[in-house]
Amino acid sequence: TTEQDRKYTHIFKIVLTGDSGVGKSQLLSRFTKNEFSLGTAATIGVEFSTKEVQINKDTVRAQIWDTAGQERFKAITHLYYRNAMGALLVFDIQSPQTFQNLDRWYNEIRTHSGNDCIIILVGNKSDQRHIRAVMPDDARRFAEERNINYIETSALSSTNVEQAFLQLIQNIYQNYK
Ligand code: GDP
Ligand code: MG
Repeated sequence: TTEQDRKYTHIFKIVLTGDSGVGKSQLLSRFTKNEFSLGTAATIGVEFSTKEVQINKDTVRAQIWDTAGQERFKAITHLYYRNAMGALLVFDIQSPQTFQNLDRWYNEIRTHSGNDCIIILVGNKSDQRHIRAVMPDDARRFAEERNINYIETSALSSTNVEQAFLQLIQNIYQNYK
């Protein structure tokens, strides 16, 4: 059967946010296709990929939206965030700048997706932790202050990618069922 034929009982819209270059598109392709590429294919506008996840007796279709920097596509911001039930807020552990910008992204999610949207903070590129520039304690503090979870991932080595998405999907499921 094709993906369209498959039956699902729930559909969850999830958005990827964070600075350009932090690895959002690679996290998505790792999770949905188990693929990674070292190059960066610039995302034009908005696209989404789907993946079915079994929880108890339910089949959840995660519809995961990916986009290029919101700066370049201000017009789609509202559509992008509208009705999102979950968000991965991603920064690059090698880049303090991407960590400093988290607050802006966090506020954007809260403004457009609301207070019920489940957010998980993701420190990506953990395979580069020997040259990390953002300390785990600082990331943990940012997350604790906003009552969200923190996880470190590597789209390159696959570490925790599935865990990050599954944790988010399960949290949404518990929240909305
Ligand atoms: P986006 O702009 O947030 O979508 O970022 P991309 O997914 O396009 O990734 C930006 C760059 O970081 C690309 O060169 C990727 O190959 C690289 N990248 C993404 N994830 C990882 C990772 O976990 N580890 C390493 N070392 N590089 C990564
Ligand atoms: Mg991208």
